[in-house]
Amino acid sequence: MTRTYAVIGDPIDHSLSPALFNSAFLFLGLDCAYIAYRIPKGELAFGIDSLRKIGISGFNVTIPHKVEMMRYLNEVDTECKLVGATNTVVNNNGILKGYNTDVAGFMDPIKNRNIKSTGSDVLLLGAGGAARAIIVAFSKENVKKITIANRTKQTADELVRFAHSLGMDSDYSDLENAGRIAGNYKFVINATSIGLKGSGCPISTDKINKDSVIYDIVYMPVETPLIQQSKNQGATIIYGWEMLLAQAMKGFEIWFNRPAPYEAMKLTLLGRF
Ligand code: NAP
Repeated sequence: MTRTYAVIGDPIDHSLSPALFNSAFLFLGLDCAYIAYRIPKGELAFGIDSLRKIGISGFNVTIPHKVEMMRYLNEVDTECKLVGATNTVVNNNGILKGYNTDVAGFMDPIKNRNIKSTGSDVLLLGAGGAARAIIVAFSKENVKKITIANRTKQTADELVRFAHSLGMDSDYSDLENAGRIAGNYKFVINATSIGLKGSGCPISTDKINKDSVIYDIVYMPVETPLIQQSKNQGATIIYGWEMLLAQAMKGFEIWFNRPAPYEAMKLTLLGRF
């Protein structure tokens, strides 16, 4: 019997997930299909009901449902609970279990490069859902300090408290000041949506240098203005597509309990940019 998977969100028609997962299914000869299902905000309960009715095997969750989806889960894994948002759900005979693969997916490209994060200082730009997953990821690595720079101070302050609750030293900066202090941090992570479709650079890159690791989780375009400018300063660069691929592979591995086909999925993903 063909097993069906989906990504739910709104908007959803530009999602790269159907191409990514269908290429994995094809590559491994799995009798599975992956669809994009638009569920507008406010219609999540109805949407989940429909997914149950078609016997969905699992699904990914994206904007705007990552947090609200928590209410419809029967079980949650530890990281999902900590982040308070889910992006991957397993349907086990009607029991919905939620995971958050952004946490491990974020850290993977750092680990693949053998870059050590334990004991280091992190400048995190942004205080939305992705930033929260990144804080959980760094807390597991015992980083020394995480400074959160964001347009809205109030949301950043919440994340500073969240980081404290996970045992990390943490403080707030505004985005303008973040550019001035960027050189004091080993990691500078962009988790704002600035840079999306080439929409500018979140901070001044003057202080970024060859010892900086610049990780821009925005993946469209591949070379964001932050990445371009930081490359010119000699920094180590980590691309947003690497996280996108890693978190999708983690989802595949949760659903199928076997390694995801890295090359097939990477080729498909990069071919879409
Ligand atoms: P979100 O919860 O909506 O948070 C958006 C963040 O961007 C907030 O900190 C917001 O600041 C800031 N922001 C938005 N527009 C801004 C502007 N014009 N000026 C200054 N700050 C601005 O979104 P999210 O889910 O955390 O995602 C953030 C970005 O990461 C998105 O571009 C998303 O595509 C990307 N992402 C990538 C991956 C991956 O796998 N590579 C995974 C998840 C997310 P305020 O608090 O002031 O509004």
